[in-house]
Amino acid sequence: MPELPEVETMRLQLKKYLVGHKITSVEVKNRKTFQGDETKILDVKILDTRRFGKVSVIDLANGRSILTHVKLTGQYIYRGPNLKNPSKLSNKVVGGVPGPHTLVVFNLDRGGKLYYNDVRRFGWIRIEKTEDVEREKFIVKLGPEPFKDLTLEIFKSILSKSGRPIKIVLMDQEKMGGVGNIYANDALWLAAISPQQPANNLQPEEQKKLYEAILTVLKAGLKYGGASELAFVTPDGAEGEYQNHTLVYGHEGEPCERCHKGLIKKFFLGGRGTYLCPVCQV
Ligand SMILES: [Zn+2]
Repeated sequence: MPELPEVETMRLQLKKYLVGHKITSVEVKNRKTFQGDETKILDVKILDTRRFGKVSVIDLANGRSILTHVKLTGQYIYRGPNLKNPSKLSNKVVGGVPGPHTLVVFNLDRGGKLYYNDVRRFGWIRIEKTEDVEREKFIVKLGPEPFKDLTLEIFKSILSKSGRPIKIVLMDQEKMGGVGNIYANDALWLAAISPQQPANNLQPEEQKKLYEAILTVLKAGLKYGGASELAFVTPDGAEGEYQNHTLVYGHEGEPCERCHKGLIKKFFLGGRGTYLCPVCQV
């Protein structure tokens, strides 16, 4: 599932391409995906984009907002005058745009189009009043987030309150936002901490190392435009690159790049693929 770097990359590109456009009409091909009254978002300027955890928000000049959670396979693809040289569409956009998996089309002024594709159809788009956005239950419940309000002190206090495996705590979006499976794996490897270690067992030095490792891997994710592992593509139609730069994620059977002794092992923890070096992550 897209994580902080992917959703943030998407938000930044949506901002770049959409701000200043107006939506002239909306073609809704799947009512379960698109919730709300599309007539409320027509013929007003798009002002800005925001992000709350994995939800991106497009704010309009009339006090309405478009919230989107792309879940596993949702994709926004922009085509129009603000994208001068569109790259070749990634083959992760199954069927192209518009195509059999295009569930919503936002027609924009000046010939622009914003397509929403979703093969698995778990994602959703919702129209709301802008003033209601931050009162949404899932936003109120979001834990503090790296680069925003997750300080080292808050991080330490979150870890000290849980005896569950550290990797599960990192990925619990109500404890802290933004760190999903890929980045949790890489951060734990970088900090040389076992994913199975109970969170409240970490020593102050390890807590600090892990906090810094989280910031490092998320920064790398942002730098590479996110990871296009499953279906993630950026709104310009290209792919993120972080999957080619992971530290431990996806490296099963390869020698550990730090100790050169261990072979990376894969197992499942809380149902998610977990990678570790059995020599230096103990
Ligand atoms: Zn190692």
